Amino acid sequence: MTHPSENWLWLLLLALTGCGSQTAVTPARTAPTQVGAQSVVLVSLDAFRWDYLDRPYAVNLRRLAHQGVHAQRMVPSFPSLTFPNHYTIVTGMYPEHHGIVANTMSDETLGGFRMSDSVAVHTEAWWTGEPIWTTAEKQGRHAGAFFWPGSEVGHGGVWPSRWMRFNDKFPNAPRVDSVLKWLTLPGSQALAFVALYYSDVDHAGHDFGPGSPQVDSAIARVDSMVGRLMAGIAARGLSDRVNLVVVSDHGMTDTPPDHVIFLDDYVSLDDITIVDAAELGLITPKPGKLADVYRKLHSANPHLSVYRKAEVPTRFHYDNNPRIPPLVLMAELGWEMTTHARDAVRKPKLGAHGFDNQAPAMGASFIAAGPAFRTGYTAAPFQNIHVYDLLCHILGLKPAPNDGSLDSTRAMLR
Ligand SMILES: [Zn+2]
Repeated sequence: MTHPSENWLWLLLLALTGCGSQTAVTPARTAPTQVGAQSVVLVSLDAFRWDYLDRPYAVNLRRLAHQGVHAQRMVPSFPSLTFPNHYTIVTGMYPEHHGIVANTMSDETLGGFRMSDSVAVHTEAWWTGEPIWTTAEKQGRHAGAFFWPGSEVGHGGVWPSRWMRFNDKFPNAPRVDSVLKWLTLPGSQALAFVALYYSDVDHAGHDFGPGSPQVDSAIARVDSMVGRLMAGIAARGLSDRVNLVVVSDHGMTDTPPDHVIFLDDYVSLDDITIVDAAELGLITPKPGKLADVYRKLHSANPHLSVYRKAEVPTRFHYDNNPRIPPLVLMAELGWEMTTHARDAVRKPKLGAHGFDNQAPAMGASFIAAGPAFRTGYTAAPFQNIHVYDLLCHILGLKPAPNDGSLDSTRAMLR
């Protein structure tokens, strides 16, 4: 919820700063190419599971799918967490390649990373790979983000033309209105690509579970923002130029309170450093303890899979980054790792994600319409590493090296 006073403060700030843009350092640019005359608005509805499209209040989203295309589901990358997947969507890279291997992680040189640590979030060295706003700016088109992981740092000295310091309390509707203004800035200042983010559905899913009426209410709130965007694009005569692409980062599943795995029931906490432990466990054994800790944890609990880094199954693409520690633990769908001490102060949550990325409950959404897309087409499930290449194609940009291709998304194009 947002307090009215904060709304006023933010609206005032918006007015003072001209649509809320931060000071951006951008390189000299060449004239825009004719190839990519189209634009893209990329909207993320955090934790909007693929099957939420059938929920009662997803009215505008169904209308968007009807007008354009949607995937049966979009398969997130592993781990099915927010930061790794948002950054995969805009770079086309697996987390092991773009460096954001978890929401909470550790790097020998950089230290610790948490989503709430603004110093870490604003340190470029964490964010490797090239996000699409950087690709666009480097090739002479303006791009921006109204909240997106990785948009608050420059990449090789290149910044998006517009970006915002993340504030989850920022009211929903002015985000849409700013994006619409950015699309219609005068002359060559208009943005060709804008990313936009909403967290409502994720919060409701964690607090009340994916099947809850609170998730329905959250779906209604973000769906109305999609409707506001659709109406705004049409009212400004942008329908023949702007593609609206709605995605999510991952799904959500029920986590019954008793589905808990206590790591300290099996191993001494003196022998390990827990980088993170919830659905995904990132564990660094103390020197000389790897074999012993692995032996104790492996097969300790039927709801826990334990891998040495080099033995993580290849389908997870999760062994090729120094930020992935020696032991990777995966909880079975709906289960959570913790310790007795952590559990004592743990905020209860009825829904979670971060599990096996191929589990249907972790499946994300992809819904898009606009001049680039076919009408009324349903695509087979595809992985989110392919979104970056698709967006580059629509924008007429040469993609930076990445893990995706156009192969599984080409059929959606007109
Ligand atoms: Zn979440």
